[in-house]
Amino acid sequence: MSPYSQPVAPHIELECINCHTRLPLDRNLSGCPQCGEVILEARYDLGRFHVADWLAAIQRRQPDLWRYREVLPITDSAHIVSMGEGGTPLIKSTALAASLGLKHLYIKDERQGPTASFKDRQATVAISALHEMGVNELVVASTGNVAIAYAAYCARAGIKLWAFFPSLTPGEKMREAALYGAEVIKITGTYDQTKELAARFARSKGIFLDRGIKSVAAIEAMKTMAYEIAEQLGYELEDGKRWRSPDWFLQAVSGGMGPIGVGKGFQEMKRFGLVSKLPAIGAVQAVGCAPMVEAFERGQRIATPVEHPSTIITALATGNPGRAYELLMDYVRQNGGHFTSVTDEEAFKTSLLLARTEGISVEPATAVTFVGLIRMVREGIIKPDDVVVINCSGHTVSVEKQILGDHWQQTVDLPDTPDYAPPLPEEGLLSALEQVESQIHRIMVVEDNTDAARLIQRILQSRGSYEVYLAHNGAEGVQAIRELKPDLVITDLMMPDMDGFKMIDLLKADPRTATIPIVVVTAKDLTVKERARLSGQINLLLQKGSFIDEEFVQSLVNKLHS
Ligand SMILES: *Cc1c(COP(=O)(O)O)cnc(C)c1O
Ligand SMILES: [Zn+2]
Repeated sequence: MSPYSQPVAPHIELECINCHTRLPLDRNLSGCPQCGEVILEARYDLGRFHVADWLAAIQRRQPDLWRYREVLPITDSAHIVSMGEGGTPLIKSTALAASLGLKHLYIKDERQGPTASFKDRQATVAISALHEMGVNELVVASTGNVAIAYAAYCARAGIKLWAFFPSLTPGEKMREAALYGAEVIKITGTYDQTKELAARFARSKGIFLDRGIKSVAAIEAMKTMAYEIAEQLGYELEDGKRWRSPDWFLQAVSGGMGPIGVGKGFQEMKRFGLVSKLPAIGAVQAVGCAPMVEAFERGQRIATPVEHPSTIITALATGNPGRAYELLMDYVRQNGGHFTSVTDEEAFKTSLLLARTEGISVEPATAVTFVGLIRMVREGIIKPDDVVVINCSGHTVSVEKQILGDHWQQTVDLPDTPDYAPPLPEEGLLSALEQVESQIHRIMVVEDNTDAARLIQRILQSRGSYEVYLAHNGAEGVQAIRELKPDLVITDLMMPDMDGFKMIDLLKADPRTATIPIVVVTAKDLTVKERARLSGQINLLLQKGSFIDEEFVQSLVNKLHS
């Protein structure tokens, strides 16, 4: 039973944003039947409600996003699939605000949702709408957080979910989706290729495809952030009865759903007379994938797609923003705003800074927004008196590996993946080893931790077909590798005397050893510089925790023999 037993009034229509044709709410529509426009917006008729009565009703409800249910695209509230998402706190920044000289900096803490990102909003609205339509199987393509949130809500609603991920998505994220029972499909390709493949899969199997920006539910869900911010600022600033808009809303942008939804939310509230003005929107992207920023700086209304995003922040790797950029650009032209990009390294550093100064730990995709804020304050675009709200979009939650075992993913190789594919193949030990499997006889393990080295050696040798040699540091390793010419080197990075970085440099510089494949196993959190240094030098990078797991190594061995 849903806690929302009152029926919601049927006063919703869809409107084509191009020719303004009004259509009844039909979530199966893939565009305007009149002009072919792909983006339809939900329109609500609040005329029959007295806005003051509505506000009073809202204040008696639970503080989740369904308190605004009259402006959400659900016709019967019995279909709502909810876990109390939304209603996240608006935290006043102290340290960061002071260091930037800002008087009113607020952090909308979207980490505090059921799956720890603002995609919980999208999941509760989209899955409720699909549940209402009677959908029982769904395909989604995601760089992580959408699929995790959908997986959780699909589990609750009894909907089977096929989640397609680009292979650079952090393994923990894919694993979490699998934990909720999603069918996880990992694609060795870019996010845009992954979306294309998921769409083809959905078509061929006749399964419903969640279309992201083109879906009404996604924008309507994101808009609830605007309603909450206005309501929360209204209280904070004691601005009488009306709610209050901030001067700025800032977010790290990939597909653009968040800011587009938030912009729509403020526009809607202004029409209802709930707020008197609209905030400027600050969109921040990663330098290695910044199609919107590039178009903005050139004054273009259509963004040129980035075909091969080069950021390790996969959550922000939408290379082709399509119509989303036009919508955002239109908003910014009318209401103000700015687009800027920041480096991965700045994001990682700022993530630490934020944890240490505000007690707020965020994933790099979120840290990108804070770097953008710092830049926009320094450039004078954001002023000291401005009321600024930051979408603190996500917290990384990893799931206990032991719960799941290791048969949770399938890999699909695209036939035409270009050979200048992503800089570091992190997609898993198995796929990297596939490239060399048939030739492996001798393996050199360079590892100063004797227990770890012995475990690898024991398991490989138990199969009887490998000669495994051990070295305890880089210097020993280089010498032994030159003599023995192994088929594969598995090495640690942090070792006494000569570390792994130096050893790899020496091996690659020497024609006798330059072609030997290298797998790096490390417990170290690599900096962007260190990753760049290894890029192109090694065949696989593994975090130690996962490699030392005996089952995982065993599955590697099985793979080598299959
Ligand atoms: C999805 C996501 C973004 C980007 O959101 P869009 O509005 O779709 O561009 C930023 N940060 C995190 C943590 C996300 O999950
Ligand atoms: Zn139209």
